Amino acid sequence: MLTVKDIKLKYQNGETPVQVVEKIYETIEKDNQSPAPLNAFIHLSKELALKQADSLKETDSPLAGIPIAIKDNINITGERTTCASRILSNYEAVFDAFVIQKLKDAGAIIIGKTNMDEFAMGSSSETSFFGPVLNPVDRERVPGGSSGGSAASVSAGFVPFSLGSDTGGSIRQPAAFCGIVGFKPTYGTVSRFGLVAFASSLDQIGPFANSVEDAALLFKTIAGHDPMDSTSILNPLDFQIENIKKPIKGLRVGLVKEYRVDGLQPEIASKIDETVKRLKEMGALIQEVSLPNTQYAIPIYYIIAPAEASSNLARFDGIRYGKREEAEKLIDIYLKSRGKGFGQEVKRRIMIGTYVLSSGYYDAYYLSAQKVRTLVSQDFASAFKEVDVLLTPTSPTTAFKIGEKTSDPLQMYLSDIFTISANLAGLPAVSIPAGKDSKGLPIGIQLIGNLLEDEKILQTAYNLEQHFKK
Ligand code: GLN
Repeated sequence: MLTVKDIKLKYQNGETPVQVVEKIYETIEKDNQSPAPLNAFIHLSKELALKQADSLKETDSPLAGIPIAIKDNINITGERTTCASRILSNYEAVFDAFVIQKLKDAGAIIIGKTNMDEFAMGSSSETSFFGPVLNPVDRERVPGGSSGGSAASVSAGFVPFSLGSDTGGSIRQPAAFCGIVGFKPTYGTVSRFGLVAFASSLDQIGPFANSVEDAALLFKTIAGHDPMDSTSILNPLDFQIENIKKPIKGLRVGLVKEYRVDGLQPEIASKIDETVKRLKEMGALIQEVSLPNTQYAIPIYYIIAPAEASSNLARFDGIRYGKREEAEKLIDIYLKSRGKGFGQEVKRRIMIGTYVLSSGYYDAYYLSAQKVRTLVSQDFASAFKEVDVLLTPTSPTTAFKIGEKTSDPLQMYLSDIFTISANLAGLPAVSIPAGKDSKGLPIGIQLIGNLLEDEKILQTAYNLEQHFKK
């Protein structure tokens, strides 16, 4: 497992950025030649990486010379942005996302674009046009999704950190499945400019890393106000990495009554118990809280997210964006381009979304869902009057087998039960590794914080991470 410190050490020992980058590509190529390649990357940006490495002036500043992998729904000038979809399979980005600009300015080296569920819709990274991603811990299993390639590339040790996007759990769940740290910041702290939109009111870019400190470092680099994103927060947090190392004595931690669900893998439930014990040892105070509208989180997410997706994906029609299928009439160009260009899950979401927004159904579905979304946020607001952070499982199960849930979308949707609410309410949430189940598969636990209290959950995560090492 690679950390930023490991790379810095290489530089201190006299290796050059070009040597470091070349070694990374060798490791990836070697994996590509193996009998079961991870398929973590859709494409490698070798030319860009070597150019960046070659022109680096110093390797002393925090991110200078640190290799990073980027989910393939984030734009990098001159590189393809496919969103793992056939319709964008030959699209080349013409501008840098805000986060990419920040990374380039910091001297991070971009290794490539990672594989994912098509348009970030999924929980297993199996819906990619470029084939499924395998879990580095067990190659017969999924790495989670939708940012599966970003999680796998860190878990496999290709890169110390990567960027993903999280609309309903797509950073935290793959982090849990792959045994690494995954962090979804407060909505609005990281600009979405240059992220291909899935559900704009829920989407958030965030880091994967092998340590909480590296995740915090990456977050600090990409956060900040951006006038190009109208939902970007005007007064960004004053986030200090050193603060996450402060002890958590007296911290009030909430356990959610409604999260004791049927179908929770017993080993994950006992990991939560063990974590509670560890938190108490560190002087935290544990208390039960209630989020009474929890049962509506998945149903309303699957109204709001598809509604926004159906609108956002309208631009991929073979004329404005997307691979064109030629036909004589304009309508046939649309029909053929979209019919061929999108996969099954994306089509399902577009159809659901169009339906819930259509006249006659708008009030019954979309409007009601928005009202319940407010109730979900209010539940959290009440809970955070009593506690500082919430401790929950990240996912009800550890990584499942490839193909196990592909024929049953509802089963797939249910795997987001603990992660979706944080997106609905815009809250920061982080998943950290907490050990393994009896099959040796990683178990992730999640910490959810109040709005803009990103530092507090990272502090809790850091303290737990250190305690788990004992
Ligand atoms: N699994 C959820 C979905 O399919 C969330 C995906 C995400 O966070 N991008 O929509």
